[in-house]
Amino acid sequence: MLVFCETKDGKIRKPSLEALSEGRRLADAAGKSLGALFVGADLAGAEEAAQYGADAIIKVEAPSLAAYSSDGYAQAIADAVQAKGATVLLAAATSAGRDVAPRAAARLGAGYAADVTGLAMVDGRLEATRPVYAGKAVSVNRFESAVQVATTRPNVFVAAPCPKAGAVESLPAPAGGFLAVVKEILAKGGGAVDISEADVIVAGGRGLKDGANFAILQELADALGGVVGASRAAVDAGWGLPHSIQVGQTGKVVSPTLYIACGISGAIQHVAGMSGSKVIVAINKDPEAPIFKLATYGIVGDLFEVVPELTKAAKALKQ
Ligand SMILES: Cc1cc2nc3c(=O)[nH]c(=O)nc-3n(C[C@H](O)[C@H](O)[C@H](O)COP(=O)(O)OP(=O)(O)OC[C@H]3O[C@@H](n4cnc5c(N)ncnc54)[C@H](O)[C@@H]3O)c2cc1C
Repeated sequence: MLVFCETKDGKIRKPSLEALSEGRRLADAAGKSLGALFVGADLAGAEEAAQYGADAIIKVEAPSLAAYSSDGYAQAIADAVQAKGATVLLAAATSAGRDVAPRAAARLGAGYAADVTGLAMVDGRLEATRPVYAGKAVSVNRFESAVQVATTRPNVFVAAPCPKAGAVESLPAPAGGFLAVVKEILAKGGGAVDISEADVIVAGGRGLKDGANFAILQELADALGGVVGASRAAVDAGWGLPHSIQVGQTGKVVSPTLYIACGISGAIQHVAGMSGSKVIVAINKDPEAPIFKLATYGIVGDLFEVVPELTKAAKALKQ
């Protein structure tokens, strides 16, 4: 089995560690060995994979792979699967994982399950569970192809340390001549955590009434060590909120430990992006708001009164 791992600033990204841990569990169930696969020009930090269950660390390293390219990375991954005779390929369902895994699957003639929330080995084959119809139903998929490819939803699987040998080996890179490459990645300032990887999200909707009012959500998020998210209505309202924080069917799918929905009604398209959250707190002045059907805890009240109180309580608890 192989798990494609992404690195950032010399460390393996958390969603990749989660995929790796799940790969370890499946490899044990199937009696197979697990390889962590890295593609790039400078793969410092790849060795950390040994701490998360990798029997082998496989590097495809070349200057031509310094910048991400959909077809270059997909080819490198497909070549590695073939070279190692892997039958299962996992990747995290990050932007890059969602881009590259189906392309690698197509090159391998493999079945592909996107954004899975559960995996099992049944009769020696992979069974993948994934939410469908905006989270209204769950589909259980069995693969018929020789190679089976799936991406794992971030924050659903647990990254658990499991030290293994992690013997490092290198594979040749594809020849190059990729159709398109990313020339430059401009990091957003502030080092904010991507909401799809956040453990705590304080999200605001149209009930916030203005972009400036998101400051009170930011204060609560800071007190809880979390980040701010938003409904599409808030992002589309022209309040200066970036699309990158939109949660939902046409935004990001998030699965934090804690999701606090403030002034969000709970439309199905919003719920599709956050129903996997472990604890959901809804603050809404309308007791009939659909979000309360989903909430673990509901507070019927004016968010402009409730949120500052929560922030005060969170700060007091910390002290
Ligand atoms: C194809 C398609 C894709 C979509 N994709 C997405 C998506 O990805 N994400 C998404 O979020 N939406 C998406 N939508 C839009 C979705 O249908 C809803 O319109 C949107 O989620 C509503 O956002 P909201 O809950 O912020 O606003 P509203 O539905 O207007 O709800 C505002 C809530 O705030 C409450 N409120 C008001 N004032 C206060 C106050 N002072 N204190 C407490 N509560 C208050 C109100 O009671 C109300 O429940 C999509 C729609 C379509 C058609």
